[in-house]
Amino acid sequence: MNSLSAVQPNLLSRINERQVLRAIQSLGPMSRAEVARHSGISAPTVSRAVEALLKAGLLEESRAPELLRGRPAKRLRLATDASQVLGLVIDAHTCRMVSAGLDGEIDGARIREFVTPDSYECLLDIAASEALAFMAYSGRATLGMAISMPGLINTRTAVSVLSPNVPITNTHAMGRDLESRLGIGCLMVQEADALCLAERRFGAALGVDDFAMLDVSTGVGLGIVSGGRLITGYSGLAGEIGHITVELDGRQCGCGNSGCLETVAGDSALAHAVSQKLGKVVSVQHALSLIRSGEIDARAEMNRTCRYLAVGVAAVINMLNPSTLFVHGELFSADASLFGSMVEETRRRALPPSFADCRIVQARGSKRQGAIAAVIEYLTNGVAPELNQQRYLTPESSYMALKQATGSR
Ligand SMILES: [Zn+2]
Repeated sequence: MNSLSAVQPNLLSRINERQVLRAIQSLGPMSRAEVARHSGISAPTVSRAVEALLKAGLLEESRAPELLRGRPAKRLRLATDASQVLGLVIDAHTCRMVSAGLDGEIDGARIREFVTPDSYECLLDIAASEALAFMAYSGRATLGMAISMPGLINTRTAVSVLSPNVPITNTHAMGRDLESRLGIGCLMVQEADALCLAERRFGAALGVDDFAMLDVSTGVGLGIVSGGRLITGYSGLAGEIGHITVELDGRQCGCGNSGCLETVAGDSALAHAVSQKLGKVVSVQHALSLIRSGEIDARAEMNRTCRYLAVGVAAVINMLNPSTLFVHGELFSADASLFGSMVEETRRRALPPSFADCRIVQARGSKRQGAIAAVIEYLTNGVAPELNQQRYLTPESSYMALKQATGSR
């Protein structure tokens, strides 16, 4: 028997499982008969696929049968009682961990927060112990975890290669390190990409295939979805608009260069400007709270930050022609008029036809939703990988996650 004929039946059954899962993901809970109708797969094949997905912990059945067209039938839904996934968001000052069912609904009562430590070993210890607490507490099987991280993640090696704002992660493969400690599949996802996934699954980009996401936080990051796929570059390093030089002799940037866009646009640029104004160093949170409470007048600093941000937004619009550009950032909470001023400045900077084609809106999704969306995507792809996998997915990790869930696949 050649190797292809040995592989084919398994691959076909995985493709059927994937179709069943996709049908329930997009249309909601339904009976086996409805799955067969919506997916065009025969009833016996649907039954086999459902059994495998129930065993893997990706689906579960409603407890009591409901009457569907006069006949009792159990509804299938994405697992929420039996299984959970974890999302970890790493940021310059604070990290957060959340859990969710396979439907992506975050358990809001159990968000765990910790200060970003100053060494990688500490970060790994805390992240592992928090994850173990989540895994022990819920009584649900934990199918996997995604880690939203700032900076550059080489997706060919799954290593954090340059993180100007959380440099303790540099050279480390946090996904693999946590996988070996926790025994579940863990993947790293670049934070701007996490925001794209959150917006596509839970926010305003449902069904939008061409959009960009400018993440204005400690740094300035960019995620790009074109033709429904994340644009990644060769090693997953694409989209680093924050490190384009905009001031030749500007301030030193965390990347080693000077005068980068994120030294003048974004939260930490604003905090730096406010610190200079006050003559003492203040954090981003402190600067924003001083502005919101009216204790300081930082209109000039905010306007300057917004004008530079508009340079970045205009560059994205001119280069990528997105139908929608989402802007994510706490900065805009400081003053209600700030977002509108930034859009006006963008109108002056961008090419008029490109600007006219693009909606600029504030993002609704969060990085924690993005981490959850990423791990659900990763488990779904683990059932049967698509030909064009998204950049942060590693097949080895996906299968490891499923092996954990099923024991024997
Ligand atoms: Zn830089």
